[in-house]
Amino acid sequence: MRITVLSGGVGGARFTRGLLALLRDRLPDGRGGTTAEVTVVANTGDDMWLHGVRVCPDLDTLMYTLGGAVHEDQGWGRREESGHVSADLAAYDVGWEWFTLGDLDLATHLARTQWLREGMTLSGATERLARRWDLAGQGVRLLPMSDEPVETHVRVADADGTERLVHFEEWWVRHRAALPALGFVQVGLESAAPAPGVLDALTTADVVIVPPSNPVVSVGTILAVPGIRAALTATSAPVVGVSPIVGGAPVRGMAAECLATIGVEATAEAVARHYGRRADASRTAGDPGVLDAWLVDTVDAHAAEKLAVDGWRAAATGTLMTDVPATARIAAEALALVGL
Ligand code: GDP
Ligand code: CA
Repeated sequence: MRITVLSGGVGGARFTRGLLALLRDRLPDGRGGTTAEVTVVANTGDDMWLHGVRVCPDLDTLMYTLGGAVHEDQGWGRREESGHVSADLAAYDVGWEWFTLGDLDLATHLARTQWLREGMTLSGATERLARRWDLAGQGVRLLPMSDEPVETHVRVADADGTERLVHFEEWWVRHRAALPALGFVQVGLESAAPAPGVLDALTTADVVIVPPSNPVVSVGTILAVPGIRAALTATSAPVVGVSPIVGGAPVRGMAAECLATIGVEATAEAVARHYGRRADASRTAGDPGVLDAWLVDTVDAHAAEKLAVDGWRAAATGTLMTDVPATARIAAEALALVGL
């Protein structure tokens, strides 16, 4: 079975970890892994240069989570991390005091940056980093959405009305998404192409999953890479999504602010309709739909009912990814929605 997941950072990584646990159980390879082939296409719109190194927040959250090295409570970064380098940089009054690079995390960025400087692509560097964490041994391949840099910037207005662009991470981490955002701009998008293997993973999949990731700045950015939405619209594989919005709010993070910026209500139903149903020929506004099925939380059961009336395959279940077994069950429910 070939499964392709379109992922952001924390939400997508936790979901994928649960999915892998399910597959080890259902389709064991006899060596502690699975015979299923999972390809994770990661958002790289949050990537940035910081202190001379290339930081890829979502790729690294995925790698640490699937590699068993993530800081569990935080959801990102390394466990047992220290911050000596960041503290010393601050003593020199350099850089962004609001964005801490952990010492262990920094090793990842240094290795990646060296390989990029030597001419390796981001997919090449990602594959090489993933070797250390034996992602292949677990049946999972991690791909950046694109090898070309695409950086999400946020259009904000100062008190005097002057508009400027700030990097997404500055808006998100420094301002906690509290600066009113007028829009998102993906710098570099027009000339970006899907990374090698991405379109193939969508076309040849048995199922494509949109995990509970941020629909705007994680999945939305992946879908905006030229060619990816079309591949999703055309694939013969069923496409199933899990709602990141539970009871009218994101479970964690600031997805509501992102949705408000693009004029989408923060409800499980509105997010489904924003993604759109692939078979919906009457869809006139916006881009072609990308989903067939949508799994919502039990508290949003009414949303599943309303979507079902309009032809969606929709169901409700507990969707809080409290631990790996609970998440494996959510993954099982998502697959069941499309008959797998
Ligand atoms: P980021 O790149 O680290 O922001 O991570 P993602 O884009 O992959 O995921 C962020 C989204 O995950 C947020 O909008 C949350 O609403 C959602 N999320 C986080 N934890 C859970 C959970 O336990 N259940 C569900 N349904 N959604 C979650
Ligand atoms: Ca992210």
